[in-house]
Amino acid sequence: MASTSPWRGRLAPSPTGVLHLGNARSFLLAWLDLRNRSGEVLLRIEDLDGPRVRSGASEAAIEDLEWLGLDWDRGPVYQSPRFDFYRAALERLAVLGLAYPCICRRGDVAQAASAPHEPPDLDGPVYPGTCRGKWSEAAEAISETGIEPCWRLDVGRSREVEFQDRVLGAQHVHVDRDLGDFVIWRRGDSPAYQLAVVLDDADQGINQVLRGDDLLPSTARQCLLLESLNLPRPSWAHVPLVVGEDGLRLAKRHGDTSLRKLRLEGRSAEDVVGLLAFWCGLIPDVRPVSAKELVAGFDLAELPREAVVWTGSWPE
Ligand code: GLU
Repeated sequence: MASTSPWRGRLAPSPTGVLHLGNARSFLLAWLDLRNRSGEVLLRIEDLDGPRVRSGASEAAIEDLEWLGLDWDRGPVYQSPRFDFYRAALERLAVLGLAYPCICRRGDVAQAASAPHEPPDLDGPVYPGTCRGKWSEAAEAISETGIEPCWRLDVGRSREVEFQDRVLGAQHVHVDRDLGDFVIWRRGDSPAYQLAVVLDDADQGINQVLRGDDLLPSTARQCLLLESLNLPRPSWAHVPLVVGEDGLRLAKRHGDTSLRKLRLEGRSAEDVVGLLAFWCGLIPDVRPVSAKELVAGFDLAELPREAVVWTGSWPE
């Protein structure tokens, strides 16, 4: 079906775990922001992080999103069958001299290449450029060192990346000091999150990205990749996360806040959406409400700017 809306966004769960109140809140906001503008929604399952992808998690995420009352016009589309598409882009960058093989085995290499949201910070320390300029093909690096390389984007020197965020305003990131050359292709031959996400967004016509603000540090990297690949930027909105009382992003240690568990305990989708909506400042107190009922009055500009704190129990 040809799209008639100028606004096209996506829900992009990673099937590495179950949907909990934190990611459900970001998905609800992304969905409301699109539906309020009659935008088109794509469901994309970001299943590239091989070792961390859990069997059955894609189906469970789809079921949970449907249960919440969210819907989509296209998808689900999966990333894993699109390997050749990502690989071709890596090759383009390599030919242009914008990407290079790197054999460094520092801890930050592994972290930087992994999927988002894995502590410690995805973006790790700034890579000092040790392998920059050494090899232009993986085979050269292997024959010289016996080590299979990852690939990094050469981000260039002494410049700033600027982008606008609909929630956080103008952002300025210095490429040498704050970013460094980052991994776009992982050792073990798989695309890194940063590369796959920009290619997919552009290829799938996505021009609206709303996600948790833990991904804000990735956005400058994505700007550089888009520029290198000559692809258009989407508009970005990074929303505050749900955190535990320790201030850290909601995770297992804060108790089981999975939608599955809440459902088993007898909470309805409207109960859960009601809590999420209350957290988003959309309703003045916690009461059952459906996602659809929230569409008409939604305005991202009114979203509270502070992280939401989950205290470990349902606010009655
Ligand atoms: N798949 C990512 C996640 O788990 C989202 C990536 C994005 O929105 O750019 O949250």
